[in-house]
Amino acid sequence: MLTESSAERVDCVVIGAGVVGLAVARALAHAGREVIILEAEGAIGTGISSRNSEVIHAGMYYPAGSLKARLCVAGNRMLRDYAASRGVPHKMVGKLIVATDEAEAAQLDGILAKGKANGVEGLAPISAAHAREMEPDLACVAALWSPATGIVDTHGLMLSLLGEAEERGAALAVKSPVVAGRPTGRGMLVSVGGAEPTTLLARQVVLAAGLAAPRLGAALGLANVPPAYLCKGNYFTLAGRTPFSRLVYPVPVAAGLGVHFTLDLGGRGRFGPDVEWLADEDYRVDPRRGDSFYAAIRRYWPGLADGALEPAYAGIRPKISAEGQPAADFLIHGPAETGQPGVAALYGIESPGLTSSLAIAKLVGELLA
Ligand SMILES: Cc1cc2nc3c(=O)[nH]c(=O)nc-3n(C[C@H](O)[C@H](O)[C@H](O)COP(=O)(O)OP(=O)(O)OC[C@H]3O[C@@H](n4cnc5c(N)ncnc54)[C@H](O)[C@@H]3O)c2cc1C
Repeated sequence: MLTESSAERVDCVVIGAGVVGLAVARALAHAGREVIILEAEGAIGTGISSRNSEVIHAGMYYPAGSLKARLCVAGNRMLRDYAASRGVPHKMVGKLIVATDEAEAAQLDGILAKGKANGVEGLAPISAAHAREMEPDLACVAALWSPATGIVDTHGLMLSLLGEAEERGAALAVKSPVVAGRPTGRGMLVSVGGAEPTTLLARQVVLAAGLAAPRLGAALGLANVPPAYLCKGNYFTLAGRTPFSRLVYPVPVAAGLGVHFTLDLGGRGRFGPDVEWLADEDYRVDPRRGDSFYAAIRRYWPGLADGALEPAYAGIRPKISAEGQPAADFLIHGPAETGQPGVAALYGIESPGLTSSLAIAKLVGELLA
């Protein structure tokens, strides 16, 4: 039974120390709040934030006016400025979106139109010859060039966000899973498990728990909690020479962006993520999934040699729409939607959540102001 009498009173609690929770904690600390970040695991960023493509997306895929479109385009600029000013490793390598037949070329027109409507910087159609001048190993009939796409060291970003939040008085508690909670007239009672269980009475709470957010939203008694679905993305690395110096994406497929080529900051190439709907969390990469990768990649890189792909890692998208349903937008609830004064909740923060993290944090700050 959660009781108010024994609870420690605190100003703000952020649940979850992934890139989004840390960005929110930084924003709230900047706004002068006393922030406690509660993280279930033993370290920051072991969830979705450490299992992604680390791409700074430009924002051309999302419906105009959606949160994904607005927060990605705003977050792209904020993240680039932030990374430059704080010395977070990043590189604006740019990206080619390639069509390998006429039907796909028609899809490029739709992506370009969306990009323009969303205010994506510098997105332009280029000919197949121009694309091959940039990347000689590429096969395509047409392409889009996005100079505002890049890559970032996510862990470096998270360390920087945490450092800044801590400089402004925020405290991180790891191995501190939130296990239950309930609203009271004076704030939210938050029950924390782990080795030293405790109960906090928080004036403000931000739920940024990634895959666990819907389950926890229900446990906290919040209104309008969406359903949760797990959609895994498997990655394969490339043994041998990296064919491209820019990111290369096919036209998107349902639930994902297609098996694309990304680089890490060390210049190593990898392909993925694919789309695998799951019932339970499972991060193993089945080598047999490589078979479909070869076919998908050879459409735009015929030079891929047999046996060149090695299973790497997997991430899980925190979907709030089921397989076959239209992709859902980010769901960012302020007090009006959670039904609780001082409580915000973030659901379905899949890609482009890393890119959007600083813009999401700004929005959450406004919702709780
Ligand atoms: C395959 C894949 C590729 C992606 N690629 C990109 C990309 O290239 N670019 C991009 O912009 N975005 C990308 N994304 C999206 C991006 O990675 C996420 O949007 C972002 O990392 C989400 O961060 P988060 O802080 O919300 O979640 P997380 O990083 O999962 O953080 C949530 C934290 O909450 C903690 N937690 C859970 N339950 C509790 C509890 N009960 N109590 C306390 N703490 C708890 C978890 O341990 C975790 O640390 C990708 C996502 C996937 C899956």
